[in-house]
Amino acid sequence: MHNFHKERTLVVIKPDGVQRSLIGEIIKRFERSGLKLIGLKFIVPSAEFIEAHYTLDKNWLVNVGNKSIQGLKDKGIVPSTEDPETAGRKVLDTLKKYMVSGPVVVMAWQGANAVKIVRKIVGNTEPLASDVGTIRGDFVLDSYNFADADARSVRNLVHASGSVEEADMELGHWFKEGELVNYRLVQEQILYDVNLDGILE
Ligand code: GDP
Ligand code: MG
Repeated sequence: MHNFHKERTLVVIKPDGVQRSLIGEIIKRFERSGLKLIGLKFIVPSAEFIEAHYTLDKNWLVNVGNKSIQGLKDKGIVPSTEDPETAGRKVLDTLKKYMVSGPVVVMAWQGANAVKIVRKIVGNTEPLASDVGTIRGDFVLDSYNFADADARSVRNLVHASGSVEEADMELGHWFKEGELVNYRLVQEQILYDVNLDGILE
């Protein structure tokens, strides 16, 4: 028996999502996709906890630094540093202010292709480039340029794990053993049952 329908991912509604009264709207978009909510909490994270979250993947700092430097160069702006780790650290510092500014909603979602489906629903990291129909594309007008000018994190409403490996690490970071619930959802029979038997009377 395969385990396609057991893939899990982490979603965090960031403080701006809560402040903009979009909790219900955001949850609705994941819920109607067919994914199953298996964990949920409402907390104010600490800066240490956020730093640990973004450095679970040892490459994240350098990757985000490279992306940030390249993004500036693409716009013809000379970056203040050429060192990806320093640039990454700058992004991380702004994230630590952003993510602890208020309560966040932490969720674990489960289902086939959960990681990719959630990223598709969430949209591109930079709201200016996110497609219409995605959470970031529909509800945010922020851009890297605007955020960088004020030396803050780009405000994009949600965090979502970028890969299955990232999801496993992040779920372990945000949820304790036993906080994720194994249960059956009636609709899973329609989503995953091979024969769709038992419908007709
Ligand atoms: P995500 O997986 O789509 O959230 O993107 P990343 O993991 O690359 O970055 C984490 C978060 O840092 C993003 O959601 C943004 O809030 C912020 N961020 C990332 N890159 C930049 C950047 O170049 N400039 C600014 N201001 N914020 C950034
Ligand atoms: Mg990421």
